[in-house]
Parts: sequence; C-alpha cells; structure tokens
Amino acid sequence: MAAHGCKKLVFSSSATVYGWPKEVPCTEEFPLSAANPYGKTKLYIEEICRDIYRAEPDWKITLLRYFNPVGAHPSGNIGEDPRGIPNNLMPFVQQVAVGRRPALTIFGTDYNTSDGTGVRDYIHVVDLANGHIAALCKLDDPNTGCEVYNLGTGKGTSVLEMVTAFEQASGVKIPVVKADRRPGDAEVVYASTKKAERELNWKAKYGIDDMCRDQWNWASKNPYGYGES
Ligand code: UDP
Repeated sequence: MAAHGCKKLVFSSSATVYGWPKEVPCTEEFPLSAANPYGKTKLYIEEICRDIYRAEPDWKITLLRYFNPVGAHPSGNIGEDPRGIPNNLMPFVQQVAVGRRPALTIFGTDYNTSDGTGVRDYIHVVDLANGHIAALCKLDDPNTGCEVYNLGTGKGTSVLEMVTAFEQASGVKIPVVKADRRPGDAEVVYASTKKAERELNWKAKYGIDDMCRDQWNWASKNPYGYGES
C-alpha cells in the first residue's frame, strides 16, 4: 500500500477480540484476548495496524470491531450465503426456516442470562455498511490517526429471543435442540456505542425485528442463496 501511496486503511475487526468480557457493555479500552484462531487473526492484524501507525504516523487507520452482523439488504437481492454448515446463529436459523436443516442446535442453556442462552449484540448489515461510510469520512479528518470503534447497537439479545423474533417475522416455527455450550463462546457480549456516536457521528438505526424481516425477505426469495437446490 505504501509503495502505491495508499496510507488510509479501514480494517474489519471483530468483537471477538474482547474474548469473554468481565463486564458489559464493552468499551474500546477493554483488554483484548482471543479464544479461537479466527479471533487471533483479528487481534494480530489489529496489532500490525497499530505498529504501522506507530512507525509511520502519516497513516490513517480505522479499526472497526463488528459485533454480530445479521439481516440482509432490504431488496432481498443481497444476503449471506455461507458454504457448508453455517457456523453463525442467523444463517443457521435461516436454513432451518427454508427447510434445508431440521432444527437449530442451541449451544448452552445454562448461561447466567435471563433465559440461560448466550447474549450478543446483533446489528443490521445496512447499519454496519453505514458505519463504514462514517469511518471513511473520518479518514479525511486531518487530526485522525489510528482509531478503533465498536460497531454494534449497544443492546444484548439472547439466542431464544432472536429465534422468537425470527419466528414472528417469518411466520415459520424453528424447531430447536438444546445442547452443551460451544467451546470458546462467551456468555454476554454487547457494545458500548458511545465512541462511534461521538467521533463517527454514527448510530445503528435498526432493531432485531427489522433484521429478522430483511433476513426472511432474502431467505424466502433465495432459499438456496446464490446457488441452486
Ligand atoms: N449459537 C447457537 N447455535 C448455533 C450458532 C450459534 O446456539 O448454531 C449461539 C452461540 O452459542 C452464541 C450466539 O448463538 O451464543 C451467537 O453465535 P454466533 O456464532 O453467531 O456469533 P459469536 O458467537 O461469534 O458472537
């Protein structure tokens, strides 16, 4: 990038760098850790970005820590289509809803949360996209250097609450099977959104009902994603 005179960078990091946070909401100053190889890639690349900036302060780098992106473009033409068995909650729920899989496995029902299932900060992909535009605008600010921002809604939602919201949006019953906790999963993770609000002038607009509505619109129009049955 330097060889081509490109010294502005927005990096897609992840809330996974907070590991199992001791408290919530997670602020950008929280200690960082990685519970799995994916998290390590995010952590290491964040470190490399910070090092580049320390060595060459004329770079402008924004690290965006995504919480849990879900939903789809409201047109229903662009959405998530993972290969193989989905690792994330909502793509799995979507595949159950269209009949591609028999039931959702809920990983852990004994967490210290209102209904025993894990809590996350789900964010609509359109809000996330707008967060990137805000981050790009910030790179034009002459006073900006290397900064990190959470992109989340600041609200926690449990697995069961998410399943219920999706059932309401789709009118489809999602059968569930309760299972043990998944190794490496944290109990409760949600964002402090204050820094992004203050410095990027950005705030998520959509709630989980909007996310589920748009995800179902995409799923029902494209039950096999970009592929074929
Ligand atoms: N989860 C689940 N079944 C699945 C996938 C995920 O119960 O098939 C749970 C998981 O334990 C966590 C939440 O859903 O509490 C979100 O998981 P995801 O993998 O989507 O995001 P992450 O754990 O990386 O935040």
